[in-house]
Amino acid sequence: MEEIKNVLTDYAEAHTSGESAVLAELREYCYREMSDSSMLSGFYQGRVLSMLSHMILPQVVLEIGTYLGYSALCFAEGLADNGKVITLDIQEDTNRIAKSYVARTEYADRIEFLLGPAADVIPELAETFDLVFIDADKTNYSNYFDLVIDRVRPGGFIIADNVLWSGRVIEPARDENTQALADFNEKVLADDRVENVLLPIRDGLMIIRKKEGRRNDSEADIPVYDLVV
Ligand code: SAH
Ligand code: CA
Repeated sequence: MEEIKNVLTDYAEAHTSGESAVLAELREYCYREMSDSSMLSGFYQGRVLSMLSHMILPQVVLEIGTYLGYSALCFAEGLADNGKVITLDIQEDTNRIAKSYVARTEYADRIEFLLGPAADVIPELAETFDLVFIDADKTNYSNYFDLVIDRVRPGGFIIADNVLWSGRVIEPARDENTQALADFNEKVLADDRVENVLLPIRDGLMIIRKKEGRRNDSEADIPVYDLVV
């Protein structure tokens, strides 16, 4: 998979804090053993996800698409005290590997693995989400957005990965995955309940913030000054 690369990418990576030893080992295992290793977030994106999680301090993270647990561990680093990551996948074999690596970390009891199609599992969850990471089957991105949006707290975040799809989203000829991602990007942009920024990191990260519901749009931009006398 092609990713955004330029001469400064290496410099940016070289001037980014290192990952934990377990994350490094998991990443090396993935590149060595897995034929679909490009699905792993990778070092730089992993550090971005960890940093975003530290900024949000989420109580509950929902991750759709566990794979080897690399991104789940990155999100776990920023959890609030007693916070947790719920991560969903349909693949048993990768789930076993993910669990074995997570078990070796301080986040062993903070990451909950659920096996099953995300569209079936999400409606069964009781939690409100502070942060949702959408990173599973691309044709369902819009469905996943619809399934979680009412369950994200006001001011909470949804992050969707691979939204540039190696640049194919701007090409006229689109396969099913490309069309689904392009539709997702348009849908998010048009949705008044959220504001979003598409970060051209790696394969494209869509950062979505759910607006606070208390004020309507006409009020939102008017600053309110508390007079202290
Ligand atoms: N988030 C991981 C990578 C996830 S790869 C990281 O950044 O390191 C995408 C994963 O989505 C795969 O493991 C795949 O099994 C899973 N997946 C595909 N369809 C799914 C579905 N319908 N429900 C849940 N998971 C699904
Ligand atoms: Ca991904």
